[in-house]
Amino acid sequence: EAALNVDRIRRDFPILDREVYGRPLVYLDNAASAQKPRQVIQAMNDVMEGCYSNVHRGVHKLSQESTDLYEGARERIAGFINADSADEIVFTRGATEAINLVANGFGQTRLQPGDEIVISWLEHHSNIVPWQLLRDRLGIEIKVVPIDEQGNFLFEDYLQLLGPRTKLVAVTHVSNALGTVTPLPEIISAAHERDVPVLVDGCQAVPHMKVDVQALGADFYAFSGHKLYGPTGIGVLYGRKDLLNSLPPYQGGGEMISSVTFERTTFKQAPHRFEAGTPAIVEAIGLGAAVDYMNALDFEALAAHEQALLTYAENRLSEIEGLTIFGQARNKAAIVSFTLDAAHPHDIGTIVDRAGVAIRAGHHCAQPIMDRYGVAATVRASFGLYNTRAEIDTLTDALHQVKELFG
Ligand code: PMP
Repeated sequence: EAALNVDRIRRDFPILDREVYGRPLVYLDNAASAQKPRQVIQAMNDVMEGCYSNVHRGVHKLSQESTDLYEGARERIAGFINADSADEIVFTRGATEAINLVANGFGQTRLQPGDEIVISWLEHHSNIVPWQLLRDRLGIEIKVVPIDEQGNFLFEDYLQLLGPRTKLVAVTHVSNALGTVTPLPEIISAAHERDVPVLVDGCQAVPHMKVDVQALGADFYAFSGHKLYGPTGIGVLYGRKDLLNSLPPYQGGGEMISSVTFERTTFKQAPHRFEAGTPAIVEAIGLGAAVDYMNALDFEALAAHEQALLTYAENRLSEIEGLTIFGQARNKAAIVSFTLDAAHPHDIGTIVDRAGVAIRAGHHCAQPIMDRYGVAATVRASFGLYNTRAEIDTLTDALHQVKELFG
């Protein structure tokens, strides 16, 4: 198996050449948002310089070219996650909007007071709050699958929570705060045995592993472009075609209708029924380019590279006295959350920044996880395809400096 050519990859990312406070940038905040390769930047630039126009409604040449690029991106994204058809790919603003779209649709058509949604303790706020809004509006209940001390999803507890009133399971594929990879195939099978559909928050999975929505059996799968080396402002809701077409429109407007009179409006089929208004054309095309970039990589080599970084980082960080790592799940993506006795996470973030190291400090939009471990915040280093061991060494050195300063 060929190793990932990290030197070549790094040359694709122009931002990695810059310095921060006179030091080479060490970007370890990939779980928040990843950097963009030249290929993505170029694709977006090319549209704007070469054929930019609104999509779907023009008779003119530019509109046809823009529409082809926009719909072509949808096709390639469908291929990337092995959707059965491009009609199953709805462009959204991001994962947050994708989850809200499903919550809204379920809320309008499928939920009665007393019905239940099962989520897990590992969820990002964007897969908690939309269900709470529904709960408060409709009187449904939210059941939460607990995790163990290592951050593993507790499968037996999950089975106990699935009941006759369960209408949807909404669960993350990979935790952004702990890195836990959930046992999705088993989670989905158990739900399907009870005829319960499953929505997966795949934000932190698609950058790290080959995702096949059909092999997983996911009914809905949401992710954001900007964590997949694509632009902001664009994301994806994959949904099984029959399920998507069973949901009501999310927003009303142009592009999503078949016909409109003042008396009555009929809607297009998915995905267009969910894409009201002028979409994020350039961003969708940029995400298509990001997917092309990922598709050209050997995913096994990518996973091996990132797992090696994870192990190296955990080993190096463990050398530091007073450092606690949160989340040691059996199956983990390249994310390390930790605290240091000597200093508050925000102070750590500020000091390592001076060494050129970008990491995250805070609750990572996953406050229930912080509560689970009794901390207000952690420091998080999250790795991507362009990171190296030398960068982890820089982080480790900077953490030693923090200890000297505060110790
Ligand atoms: N889910 C997870 C697991 C995430 O990490 C994030 C982003 N931090 C989101 C959902 C929300 O994504 P976005 O803000 O791009 O909509």
